Amino acid sequence: MTALLPRPSILTIQPYIGGESKLPGVNRIIKLSSNEGAFGVPPGAQTAYLAQAAELHRYPDGSAKALREAIGARFGLDPARIVCGNGSDEIIGALILAYGGEGTDLVMSAHGFVMYDIAGRFAGCQVVKVPERGLMADIDAMLAAVGPRTKLVFLANPNNPTGSLVPAAEVTRLRAGLRDDILLVLDAAYAEYVTRPDYDPGHGLVEAGTNTVMTRTFSKVFGLGGVRLGWAYAPAHVIDILNRVRGPFNVNAPAMAAGIGALAEAGWVEKSIAHNGEWRDKVTAAIHALGIGVHPSEGNFLLVDFGTPERAKAADAVLKSRGLIVRAMGSYSLPHCLRMTIGNAEECGLLVDALTAFTRGG
Ligand SMILES: *Cc1c(COP(=O)(O)O)cnc(C)c1O
Repeated sequence: MTALLPRPSILTIQPYIGGESKLPGVNRIIKLSSNEGAFGVPPGAQTAYLAQAAELHRYPDGSAKALREAIGARFGLDPARIVCGNGSDEIIGALILAYGGEGTDLVMSAHGFVMYDIAGRFAGCQVVKVPERGLMADIDAMLAAVGPRTKLVFLANPNNPTGSLVPAAEVTRLRAGLRDDILLVLDAAYAEYVTRPDYDPGHGLVEAGTNTVMTRTFSKVFGLGGVRLGWAYAPAHVIDILNRVRGPFNVNAPAMAAGIGALAEAGWVEKSIAHNGEWRDKVTAAIHALGIGVHPSEGNFLLVDFGTPERAKAADAVLKSRGLIVRAMGSYSLPHCLRMTIGNAEECGLLVDALTAFTRGG
């Protein structure tokens, strides 16, 4: 008997653990585990999505033209250099399969977004995880980790789950230190939330060269995680490659309609940023006041440090007993931490109440 087996690298993959959404015996769930945005679905996106119901027998526009034009208009980018995907995860995977694979290295920071690790191993890459400094990507160490086999470097900026941001000048220095045959992927899933002036989600570097790609998503500030919609801005030759390897109808019609609707929702992003800034600060201050560690974050989430895995688990249990679901961080080698999404005002209040109860013994 010869057993059926996948390529050896596949068995080294730890399956992605998504944010939980149910708790047995708890009626009201407050889901703060997947950074989905505080305000639900933009109403215009919902209307546009529903309007597609009578057209579901039609194939979608495989070129996603209307959506690319809406994205281009919104962000001041050339629609010809945008590719849309079934979530940005799909694009990340396609880039890795197209440019990496067996015999190549993929470089990422130690606590970088876990999908780079999963998709890298799937493709057969050696995934090189570079130690960080104070939970911040260390650019010098990343450059030092680059070897002759390196084909891909990934940087989530801001990073999930740490919330840390690499200033534009440092990202430019990273690119300048990489060989021209290395693709730098800047994952700006949380770009809209950043208010710091020393930030560039990646537009500048994409346009300045031939080997940098920026990925973005509708899953966070635009409140559309359920439809799976993301996009990349890339040099023309990379767009050509992505268009060869992606599924011909990789983005479905309701998703495209919802995305266009979300972009058209007046004031949505502004309202979300204002809310996030206010409550990120308030919750951070409240957690500090409880004597619990919390990392500065440029995203819509906080990485809360309980010191030990046991204490993080105990806090998680108290939160769960009150219906609050946050994200355990074992798969990011941060088992002493929990990641908590900034929800609406009521949810933030309940989160602080629960953490207060935890510090008082549950
Ligand atoms: C949420 C997230 C994504 C998102 O993905 P989609 O596949 O577009 O939902 C990508 N990168 C990071 C860092 C994220 O946190």
